[in-house]
Amino acid sequence: MYQTLRTAQKQYFYSGITRSLEFRLNQLDKLRKVIKQNENRILHALKLDLNKSKEEAFTTEIGFLYAEITHFEASLKEWMSPQKVKSPASHTGAKSYVIHEPRGSVLIIAPWNYPFQLAMAPLVGAMAAGNCAVVKPSELTPHTSAVIAELLGDTFSDDYIAVVEGAVETSTELLNEPFDYIFFTGSVGVGKVVMEAAAKHLTPHTLELGGKSPAIVHHDAKLDLAAKRIAWGKFLNAGQTCIAPDYVLVDEQVKDEFLKKLEKHTNDLYKKPWKKGQYPRIVSDRHFDRLVKFLEDGRVLVGGQYKRDDLALSPTVLDDVEWDSPIMQDEIFGPILPILTYSSTSEAQSLIRDRPNPLALYVFTESKEVEAQFVEELSFGGGCVNDTIMHVANPYLPFGGAGTSGIGAYHGYDSFLTFSHKKGMVKQSTAFDLPVRYKQGPITHKLV
Ligand code: NAD
Repeated sequence: MYQTLRTAQKQYFYSGITRSLEFRLNQLDKLRKVIKQNENRILHALKLDLNKSKEEAFTTEIGFLYAEITHFEASLKEWMSPQKVKSPASHTGAKSYVIHEPRGSVLIIAPWNYPFQLAMAPLVGAMAAGNCAVVKPSELTPHTSAVIAELLGDTFSDDYIAVVEGAVETSTELLNEPFDYIFFTGSVGVGKVVMEAAAKHLTPHTLELGGKSPAIVHHDAKLDLAAKRIAWGKFLNAGQTCIAPDYVLVDEQVKDEFLKKLEKHTNDLYKKPWKKGQYPRIVSDRHFDRLVKFLEDGRVLVGGQYKRDDLALSPTVLDDVEWDSPIMQDEIFGPILPILTYSSTSEAQSLIRDRPNPLALYVFTESKEVEAQFVEELSFGGGCVNDTIMHVANPYLPFGGAGTSGIGAYHGYDSFLTFSHKKGMVKQSTAFDLPVRYKQGPITHKLV
């Protein structure tokens, strides 16, 4: 069904127009302008879909994109230039270099939690790397999906950038097409479906998935700051952030003191917006019911209020949670923060190792050794020491998962690499022809 669209994009791509630096920069500039001119409409759509406040939505969904585009504008020329590499003695006379070639027509499938940013940030990378793209926003945030379709539809021709709106069936049909690359952001379960579909055509892909991301609070941490930064990172967007701290793993020596501070900061940061109805809502009835059930898995220490009609659930801290309770099985993806404890760092390490690789990990400590035990000895996508979430907002850092939390990475240079094929080239001299290679026997690979 989408064969015509993909074929049209391939023809446009083969015309060569998307390859030049000038074209790429012009298109990125057009994209920034259309976002800028329509900021209020985008913010309004985000309000309707998820009840996001203007401030939060601007920072996490729009400002983020401006920063990414600016970063590409400053660096693209350098990144696009062929990269010279050394040649071994066996290649005497040759020059070797790497070309970053656009992949062609790429498919971007986006989730609902940051429905604008998570559709557009991969698109920025795809455009900067010289590709055509088809974007499939999430059906669970229909207002934002419609705005994306309208803005991109008015700005670009479909054979360059197209938006296809729809749900699972649409996604499935798109995945039947042999796109040149698939960039998927969403759940682990659907990630497996996407990988299977990609396997049919051997399509290279990036999977940006999820997982249970721990926030570890060691006894030597600055507890007040740890509590404030964990509360902020967890309850942002009602906990519907892929890298939100999923649970706290606190050193049992400091649990009581830490919880007092966590209660204070959660209330300071989020009690008012929740009471005024300005707190983001849970995306759907299904997710709301799933989350409310989790309130039975521990003792509510903070929050625990909900209004089903508004899909509103208050920032909640849950104490006395068991590792084998339902809330600890899968990613929570909502404003409920379970508290668990550890008695030694090696115990904390094995508790984390026993579970699938987290997408993010946060460790709060003043000790370099403790920091290294978590940062260097555990496998996870990325994270922070003494902070939460902030690694996602640095365009100089790759962003992606490890193991079950994802395959590949993007943002900044890593987006450019993701949406490019690295073509290794040798250009040999015709001025002479060394006879050595034509003789039988091993070629020596001594580097010059
Ligand atoms: P989801 O996997 O349900 O849906 C994501 C996209 O896939 C949507 O566009 C949807 O229409 C499509 N889709 C759903 N089922 C499909 C199927 N069977 N076949 C083909 N396409 C299908 O995810 P979601 O609920 O929208 O988002 C939440 C998940 O995304 C969480 O697990 C979260 O951790 C993850 N996430 C990850 C990142 C990241 O950068 N790693 C960012 C945001 C969200």
